Amino acid sequence: MRNNQHIHLLSESVTNKIAAGEVVERPASVLKELMENCVDAGADQIDVEVTGGGRRSILVSDNGSGMSADDALMSIQRYATSKIKDVDDIECIKTMGFRGEALAAISSVSRFRLVSRTADTESGTEIVVSQGKVQSVESVGAPIGTSIQVRNLFFNVPARRKFMRTEKTEFSHIRQKFLVYALAYPEIGMTLRADERSVYTLSSGDSMENRLLEIYGDSLRGALRQMQFESNGIRVNGYVALPQVARSDRSDQYVFVNHRPAIAPVIAYAIREGFRTMMSRDRHPVLFLFIEMDPAMVDVNVHPTKREVRFRRSQQLRDAIIGAIRTALQASSDPTDYVAGEGVSREQSFSFENRGGIKIDDMQPTRVFSYPRMPMLDEGSNRGAELRQEERNVGDGDEQSDNMPWSQCRVLGQVGGLFVVLETEDGIVLMDPHAAHERVMFEKFMGQVLSGKVQSQGLLAPETIDMSPENALIVRKNEQILGEMGFGVSSFGGDSFIVDAVPSCLGKVSIAEVVENLAKAAERGGKTSSAEHANEERIAMAACKAAVKAGDILNLDEIERLVMDLAGSRMPYTCPHGRPTIIFMSFKELQKKFGRLT
Ligand code: ADP
Ligand code: MG
Repeated sequence: MRNNQHIHLLSESVTNKIAAGEVVERPASVLKELMENCVDAGADQIDVEVTGGGRRSILVSDNGSGMSADDALMSIQRYATSKIKDVDDIECIKTMGFRGEALAAISSVSRFRLVSRTADTESGTEIVVSQGKVQSVESVGAPIGTSIQVRNLFFNVPARRKFMRTEKTEFSHIRQKFLVYALAYPEIGMTLRADERSVYTLSSGDSMENRLLEIYGDSLRGALRQMQFESNGIRVNGYVALPQVARSDRSDQYVFVNHRPAIAPVIAYAIREGFRTMMSRDRHPVLFLFIEMDPAMVDVNVHPTKREVRFRRSQQLRDAIIGAIRTALQASSDPTDYVAGEGVSREQSFSFENRGGIKIDDMQPTRVFSYPRMPMLDEGSNRGAELRQEERNVGDGDEQSDNMPWSQCRVLGQVGGLFVVLETEDGIVLMDPHAAHERVMFEKFMGQVLSGKVQSQGLLAPETIDMSPENALIVRKNEQILGEMGFGVSSFGGDSFIVDAVPSCLGKVSIAEVVENLAKAAERGGKTSSAEHANEERIAMAACKAAVKAGDILNLDEIERLVMDLAGSRMPYTCPHGRPTIIFMSFKELQKKFGRLT
C-alpha cells in the first residue's frame, strides 16, 4: 500500500457504479428495470426500440404518469423512490420497483437521456446524463409520459463491457425479457422494434389467451388448457400446453407471483410433479403460471434483481400448482378418477367424404366406428380452438365433457410391424399400441388402487422365483404396498419368493419383470418423489410396462377397443413414462405439405 492509507467514503459516482454491477448485468436487465418503471407509472402503452441487440441503444417510452422536473432530477439519485416510505412498506409491496437504485445505476454506466411530462404541465423536461453526471436539463415539448434512452451501456466500465455477448445473444435476452412483461400485463399494449424492424405489436386490452395467441400464433393453438385453481387462499391461473408440445429447455415456462416474474425451487419441483407420468425427464412443459397469494406470504427481498422469491407456505403452494396443472390437463374435473372411459358405442353407417376425387378400386374398406373426440393438436390450424368454442356453446349446461362430440374413425392397418394407422374425419393418426395400452392399463389399474378395489386373481400354480439380492431388497421394501395393489408375494427364505396372485387387469404379468422394471426406474430416477401415491404410481408404471411387454397379438376388435379406451382416458397423449401414444396429422397439414394449400 502507498502513503494514502486513510479510510474514506467512496464518492457517489463510484458507489453508483458498484451498485450498477448488481442491478445491471446486460442490456436485458436495463430493459427489465425500464419496463417495470413504466408498469409502476400506470402506463397502458409501452414501446421499446433497440439497436445492436441493446448494446448500442435501448429506448423505452410509456404513456404513464410522467414526472415533474424536480422528480425527474430526483429519479436518477440513488435510493430515490416514490414507491416506499419506510421499511415496513417492504412487507407488502405492490409495485415492481422499490429500491430506487435502477435509474441511478443505469445512468452511471451509460449515456442516458430522460424525457418526461405529467398531465399538469404544458411542457416536458429533458435530462441528459453521462457517467452519472447531469449534462443538461431543458424544458422540451413532449407527450404525457416518460421516455428513457440508454446508449452505449458500460462504455465507461471496460470490465463489464467485456462480458457482453454478441448482438444476437443480447437481443435474444432482450426478447425473452420483453415477453415476460408482455405476458404479465396482457392489458398493456406493447411494441418491440429491433434495428428499425417490428418484432412484436401487441394490442392493449388483451385477454391472456389473446396475448398468447398474438405472441405464439398457431404453434400453440389448440394445445393450451386453461388453469383455474384455488386452494388455501392461493390462486393459480394461466395456461398449460398439452404434453406433446414440450420443449427441450425451460425457455417457455413463465411464472409470476403476484404479477412479478419469479423463480423458486418449490415452483420448479411442483411443475415437474404436475407432469409426472406425462413427460420424460429431459422434456420441459410449456406453461404460463400466474400465482396470486397474500403478499405477506412472499418474500421478494431475497435477491437484488428480485427474481428468486421465498414462500412462507411452500407446501400449500406446491399442492396448489400440482392441482392446477393436473386439473387443467385432465379431460374431466375429478382429479382422483383414473378410470378409462366406458360406454363408447359403435356406428357403421358413416362414410368418409371423398376429398380428392381419386378412388382406388379394389381397396378393402374397413368398418367405421365412433369414438369420443380427443382434442387433437394440429399446428397451423385453428380448428381445435373453434371446435371447443362451439362445444361450449352447444353445451347448454348439461354434462358434456371436453371429449365430445363423437367422431368417426377407422383402422387402416399396421405399418412397421407395430404402428397402427387410423383415419378420422380430420386427419390420420399413427398410434403406438404398446404406449397406448400402457396408458389405458395404467389408468384402469390406478383407478382400482386409489379406490381400494383392486381385483386380484389367484394363480392356479403359485410360482417360486429367485431374485438377485438387489431385487429381493426392492420386494421386501415394497411388500405391503405390493400386497395392497393385488400382488400376492411372500418370502420363501433367502432371496426367493412365492407369488400366488397378481392384479387381474394386468393379465399374465410376471412379477420378476415388474421388479426388474422397478429396479431400472430406481437406477435412472435419481430423486424420489414425495407426492401422494407416488409409490403406487411407480409400481403401477413398472407393472403396466411388464404387462404390455407380455402382451399378445391384437386383432381388429382389440385395436378398436384400444382406440376407444385411449380416447376415453384422462391423459391420452402419452404413456405413463412420457412417450407419445399417438401422432396426428391433419388433412389440412397434408394438403399444405403437398402444396395444395398455401
Ligand atoms: P424504483 O423503481 O425502485 O423506485 P428507479 O430508480 O427505477 O427506482 O426509479 C426511481 C423513481 O423514478 C421511481 O420511484 C419513480 O418515481 C420514478 N420513475 C422512474 N421511471 C418512471 C417512469 N417511466 N414514469 C414515471 N416515473 C418514473
Ligand atoms: Mg424501478
